Amino acid sequence: MGGLVDLFQQPSFVVAVTCLLVVLALAAFYYFWRSHKERKAHDDALTHERELRQQFDAVMSSARDGVIISRSTGEIAMMSDMAAHILGLNAADAVGKPVMRLPVRALDAHMHPLLVNEAFAPTEPGQSRVVGVPGRRGADDVRWIQVRTANVESEHDGTTITVTTIMDTSGLREAAEALNRSDMQFRKAMENAPTGMALVDLEWRLMEANRAFAEMMGSTVAALRGTPFSALSHPQDLQAEHDQLQRLYDGHQNHFSLEKRYVRADGNVVWAVLDVGLVRYAGGAPDHYVVQVRDSTDDRMHSELLAHRAMHDPLTGLANRTLLHDVLQQVLEQPDAQGRAGVIAVDLDGFKGLNDRFGHATGDNALVHVAGVLRSATAGRGTVARIGGDEFVIVVQDDDCAKALFEIAGAIHTGLKQPLQVKRHLITVNASLGIAMADESTVDGGAPALLSAADAAMYRAKSSGKSRTEVFDISMRASTDTHSALAAELARAIENGDLVLHYQPVLELSTRTVVGYEALVRWQHPTRGLLLPGAFLPLINDKKLSVVLGTALVDQAAGFLARVASDTAWVSLNVSADQLGDSEFADRVLSTIGRHRLSAQRIVVELTEASLVAPNTRIRHELTELRNAGVPILLDDFGTGVSPLSYLRDLPVSGVKLDMSFVAGIPEDPAGARVSRALGALARELGLATIAEGIETEAQARFLSNCGWRYGQGWLFGVAQPAAAIFAATTEFSTSMIDPLPQEDTVDSNVESPR
Ligand code: C2E
Ligand code: CA
Ligand code: CA
Repeated sequence: MGGLVDLFQQPSFVVAVTCLLVVLALAAFYYFWRSHKERKAHDDALTHERELRQQFDAVMSSARDGVIISRSTGEIAMMSDMAAHILGLNAADAVGKPVMRLPVRALDAHMHPLLVNEAFAPTEPGQSRVVGVPGRRGADDVRWIQVRTANVESEHDGTTITVTTIMDTSGLREAAEALNRSDMQFRKAMENAPTGMALVDLEWRLMEANRAFAEMMGSTVAALRGTPFSALSHPQDLQAEHDQLQRLYDGHQNHFSLEKRYVRADGNVVWAVLDVGLVRYAGGAPDHYVVQVRDSTDDRMHSELLAHRAMHDPLTGLANRTLLHDVLQQVLEQPDAQGRAGVIAVDLDGFKGLNDRFGHATGDNALVHVAGVLRSATAGRGTVARIGGDEFVIVVQDDDCAKALFEIAGAIHTGLKQPLQVKRHLITVNASLGIAMADESTVDGGAPALLSAADAAMYRAKSSGKSRTEVFDISMRASTDTHSALAAELARAIENGDLVLHYQPVLELSTRTVVGYEALVRWQHPTRGLLLPGAFLPLINDKKLSVVLGTALVDQAAGFLARVASDTAWVSLNVSADQLGDSEFADRVLSTIGRHRLSAQRIVVELTEASLVAPNTRIRHELTELRNAGVPILLDDFGTGVSPLSYLRDLPVSGVKLDMSFVAGIPEDPAGARVSRALGALARELGLATIAEGIETEAQARFLSNCGWRYGQGWLFGVAQPAAAIFAATTEFSTSMIDPLPQEDTVDSNVESPR
């Protein structure tokens, strides 16, 4: 024991033990420190891995591609849900399994057999491979997936992991197939489309075109392929096309339409509406153009025809008044118009007479003939226009205008000497011409001033013997206001009693005997020839004047009746509403009847439905006065008014005159025929006399007679003629054949009513 104590008491021993204890303590500390550090590192690694896993899952949940991470040993460390979904596996089950054993099919004949084993073997950087995996829809279903791998060195422990991305390409393939299919369908549709279609490359060269397109261009699909599209264009339309294409290419528009001309292989020009769209790649870069072309030649022709019609006289094809004004205005606006421009006013002599004598159809022929003469006389030195019935104007533009004007005028007179064949007659039409040159005052006054100067010269030609040419001079200026001058002339003519009645026979349709006449007023104008009512009645704007005219014509008609062969034939007078209202007309009619000792039924009054819109009580009173005295009242232009029945009910009407617009359509126009029949039945039902006007053909006469129209008038039976011509023709008439006009409540019971 002492030895042990001694040992303890030896200093070297104590140092040794102390050292040992210190070493032991240090060792224990180190051990604890070490194991703590290791545990912490392990815990850190786990946390890190969990975090990574969470981040991985979060990123992967939104990715389209599936991701598999495998260790260098080849076992799967992680698999994203998408990857599991694509492969049809459970992600948790897959972890820990070797990646090479993932299910892959060797179904595709095009697939290299190696790929089955090495489906998930590393790929070259940037490369991928496509492999088949079993689909979910049965044994034959294969889904095609694209595999791409990349090796990543772990910073954590220096090991290498492999990241494999897989993408299901089945959808893409289907889309590509569908695209292919729809492309084929598109091509098929394009081939058979009735409108022209073409695919055009960015150099505007035809890549593909359909048959309709080729036919339109007068070529074949094969010949067109590769042709520059511009080569087919009309040269004048190239620029417009180019500009639009540029805008399309630059993205300023998605599409454009353009109407333009193409020149066919045979040299003919076609109009087409071009629709162009630009097809772009997904990224927006232009790829090619899709072009539709519709032949618009017919539409174009149609609209050009309409435009032409709006500016031309349909009968002669000459410019109409509108176009004439435009042309003349343009000519006068040119800086050197004075001395280089002029007009010739042309008015036919005796044209109204010709129309009356031979009818409107002949009149029309004559106008066409005259138009031809004017055209050839002008010979391209100006514009020929027809501005009214028998009025023409030629606008001349020539360096030596005066000379041209006289040459043209001379050529017109010469040309008109050539007679025109009308049925069995040869007729010549003459014209009076007035020339006016553009001068200071007409240039200032524009087209109307120059035209009225030429007109004044033309009137001078008429008044100094017709069929000649006069040139405007300042002395004619006073009469250039022709309208008011004519109105003043008319007033004088009415006061002087210069207006005359012509008589058109009215026949009983069943027996074809003349029973009466319609009196139609004419003005034998000293320079303008015989004027029809349409040319001058509208100029009367003074009620007093129309009463004077009306009463003067009553006297004329009574004078005619006194001399006509039959003592029962009647004359009907056209009366306008403004002649009525103060009983002057009725007084004159009744006193004239008395003076000439005529039966009251022999003077008949015609009133148009139009002039009776809202007849006032004074007019109604005057008409009743006449009717009570035995003067029949006829409703003229029957069927054209707003409410014919109300007139028949409210006015003391004895008969109706069927408007000639209905007669004109008989028998071809079923509506005209139906209306004629219905109105006839109505009038008869109401006990009214029935007269049809404007009968020009035998067929019309027969049809109307068959559906109950008792009387008729028209060119078939005779045009309106001066009294003297009637007297000459009717001397052989048997008076017993003439019936008076039917009359309701007649006061003269001697006269037998034909009803
Ligand atoms: P309205 O009373 O309807 O006269 C019939 C018109 O047709 C007349 O034209 C006549 O010449 C024309 N006509 C006769 N038969 C035929 C035919 O078979 N075919 C064709 N297409 N036309 C035919 P007009 O003489 O130019 O008279 C036009 C109008 O002037 C008359 O139409 C009448 O409303 C009015 N009018 C005529 N004379 C007088 C009158 O003395 N006083 C008044 N206030 N008006 C009158
Ligand atoms: Ca009439
Ligand atoms: Ca009429």
